[in-house]
Amino acid sequence: METTTTISPTFDVNIIRKSFPVLEREVNNQLLVYLDNAATSQKPQVVIDALDYYYSNYNANIHRGIHTLAEEATAAYEATRNTVRDFINATFSEEIIFTRGTTEGINLVAYTWGRKYIHSGDEIIISTMEHHSNIVPWQILCEEKNAVLKVIPINDDGELLMDEYKKLLSPKTKLVSIVHVSNALGTINPVKEIIDLAHANGAHVLVDGAQSSVHLDIDVQKMDCDFFAFSGHKVYGPTGAGVLYGKKKNLEEMPVFMGGGEMIKEVTFAKTTYANLPYKYEAGTPNIADTIALKVALDFVTETGKQLIRNHENNLLKYATEQLKSIRGLRIIGNAKNKASLISFVIKNIHPQDVGVLLDNQGIAVRTGHHCTQPLMERFQIPGTTRASFAMYNTKEEVDRLISGIQKCIKMLS
Ligand code: PMP
Repeated sequence: METTTTISPTFDVNIIRKSFPVLEREVNNQLLVYLDNAATSQKPQVVIDALDYYYSNYNANIHRGIHTLAEEATAAYEATRNTVRDFINATFSEEIIFTRGTTEGINLVAYTWGRKYIHSGDEIIISTMEHHSNIVPWQILCEEKNAVLKVIPINDDGELLMDEYKKLLSPKTKLVSIVHVSNALGTINPVKEIIDLAHANGAHVLVDGAQSSVHLDIDVQKMDCDFFAFSGHKVYGPTGAGVLYGKKKNLEEMPVFMGGGEMIKEVTFAKTTYANLPYKYEAGTPNIADTIALKVALDFVTETGKQLIRNHENNLLKYATEQLKSIRGLRIIGNAKNKASLISFVIKNIHPQDVGVLLDNQGIAVRTGHHCTQPLMERFQIPGTTRASFAMYNTKEEVDRLISGIQKCIKMLS
């Protein structure tokens, strides 16, 4: 691998920005302001290069080949597994299962662990602020098993009501599946406390890390979660490469997910035996190129410094929150004390869709709508929000463009 990662000794956003080629792009004759990072982050050149280098130099199917290219591809693919292990501080590399993303990781647990351990009358606890991908798989499971889905309510600031959570826990609770950082509110949930309480009740816990893995330090051992799912594309990596972490004991005891090549030890027409971890859950040719490039993305984040990135993003959050609050008629949805760097808001008498379109006209990319959290939108009795979400490459000047862009929208639409 000949590409090198840009390392900034201290955090300099202008140096960081140079690593992301798309940031030089113009949209509607203005320099792009990309504030849709919670949907997917942009990719640094080193990640793009890693994809190109793989396809140009050692594209091969992995694990089964004995030729040089296959060996190089296998080594690079498995190197990502070790990097992910370190990135989330898992104990063993075998605890890292490659998936397409968070959605697939959650479904994997629902279809394997869930099928085995959830029975009629059992209860699964989620929260009001879950993404659809942490609601629907459990609804499907509950329907099939005649189990019950319980929901932790939230307060008006978008924080979990922990006392209500404690009341929901009972010997019937088999699983708590909870989002670490809300993609619609930015709330950082107290997952350690949630996990400890669940474990004290004998329940397992899955943490949806789709939004947290990019902003927070993840230590699955300290957290003591049973499962942790995240998506590479939100951590500056390619789409289609994600991770499910599971404690080794859980993964060993769970039934297989998809059947096919790679996940077997031996196949006869009479009986098939299954491969050891992690291959047991990785049927078929995986997403080799994107998984290899995911390592480069995670290295980029680690070398840039998660704490430095977080400081920068928190400064942007603070600055943007103050600026947005000064706009008359604008209401921030999600005012948790502990918040990651995204802001959802509504503007009186203006539909979020219209805000999104008018901002795009000014080269500013934000997300509008329900953010795959329809029950949460119902909780706040709104059709949707406009969401600005910040990444390591965003600047104060970009926040200023957002603010003046919103002011223009208000002038035009009211
Ligand atoms: N959970 C949360 C909190 C998310 O923000 C997302 C992505 N928006 C997902 C799950 C699903 O992730 P993916 O689409 O990458 O599978």
